[in-house]
Amino acid sequence: AEKIQMKVPLVEMDGDEMTRIIWQHIKDILLTPYIDLKTVYYDLGLKKRDETDDRITAEAAEATKKYGVAVKCATITPNAQRVEEYSLKQMWKSPNGTIRAILDGTVFRTPIIVNNIKPFVKTWEKPITIARHAYGDVYKGVEMKIEAEGKAEIIFTGADGHVSKELIHDFSGPGIVMAMHNLDQSVASFARSCFNFALDQKQDLWFATKDTISKKYDHNFKDIFQDIYEREYHQKFSAAGIEYFYTLIDDAVARVVRSTGGFIWACKNYDGDVMSDMVATAFGSLAMMTSVLVSPDGYCEFEAAHGTVTRHYYQYLKGEETSTNPVATLFAWTGALRKRGELDGISDLIQFAGELEQAAIDTIEEGILTKDLALLAEGEKKTVSTRRFLEEVRARLYRAHQPA
Ligand code: NAD
Repeated sequence: AEKIQMKVPLVEMDGDEMTRIIWQHIKDILLTPYIDLKTVYYDLGLKKRDETDDRITAEAAEATKKYGVAVKCATITPNAQRVEEYSLKQMWKSPNGTIRAILDGTVFRTPIIVNNIKPFVKTWEKPITIARHAYGDVYKGVEMKIEAEGKAEIIFTGADGHVSKELIHDFSGPGIVMAMHNLDQSVASFARSCFNFALDQKQDLWFATKDTISKKYDHNFKDIFQDIYEREYHQKFSAAGIEYFYTLIDDAVARVVRSTGGFIWACKNYDGDVMSDMVATAFGSLAMMTSVLVSPDGYCEFEAAHGTVTRHYYQYLKGEETSTNPVATLFAWTGALRKRGELDGISDLIQFAGELEQAAIDTIEEGILTKDLALLAEGEKKTVSTRRFLEEVRARLYRAHQPA
């Protein structure tokens, strides 16, 4: 067979540590033998970020706007210890944060489901995708410790000099206050990313806040979603046979736990932070979680939800073979290739992405697993190294697809 030809390149963002090693294995074993892989390559490894004063990260994000689809390897977000380890010029910001700010995107996280790993919630049959609003609220909160008696107030001074004031609390003793904010424009971008993603996936969209208690703040989120839905998406949703469903956050949690899954759950920043870990854990493993950043203009950046698996990297450096799970990183590639196939009308590429995903799922369901899954999976199992796992995937892919 001939290699599958691509028309427009993917933006490829390489990363760090164990995931950087896995990245190359995936390309060598499962992609380049079958696809005439076209990418524009950005090395977001920490060394290169330091060399370029982190300009490479912004350039990679700009390239994503130009080409439309990116695939990213996990990267180190430096802390004090990393500054020393890599002799960094400074403590560079999180690449994901930088890319998200440039694309103004929303992150959607979806578990990869296999039949021999049962979710902790036994009704869940299909994946639940969490969409987290990534701006504002407590993450940009301004806090103050109140040491003694006194009044705390919110003051807004308009550009025209007009002042409005609200009493927060008349303190008779020590306490705490916090002020937080959000922007209508950011909420609207979040809403559009969610509605677009729901249409793309042909799944219902759920959204929930605490608008009965927070009559202005949370209500504003509810109103913006509802307004955009009515104006721009109602008809498209009807045509696609999907629904937009709003409810209170406590009701949403109860319904999610009793659901069979198969929908997208849009969450405010803090709710998304908490719920994405809850959903990931309940479905089994962070190593089986994919993540895609979608901008309101429809640009997509695919990645694994986990980090660079540092502990395994140190074992690898000592010459030991590791059994790191490459599935989420593999699904980042298949997600990106499928999207490229859809945008460019390359049906072979779309089909290949599906076959590769199925081969990975088949491998696990036949009991051939990496160590992290061996603890979770039911039935017969054999623990293998990362490389061996990818070769087993290739053997199953071969049944469906002859290499070039
Ligand atoms: P991590 O996700 O690398 O590891 C967390 C835990 O889960 C570890 O016990 C690890 O062994 C296990 N784990 C995660 N993925 C696995 C896989 N594929 N196979 C087997 N086990 C797996 O997170 P961490 O240890 O908190 O951070 C390590 C580095 O990754 C840090 O430098 C951090 O900045 C970075 N990080 C990057 C991203 C990203 O680029 N999206 C996300 C999180 C962390």
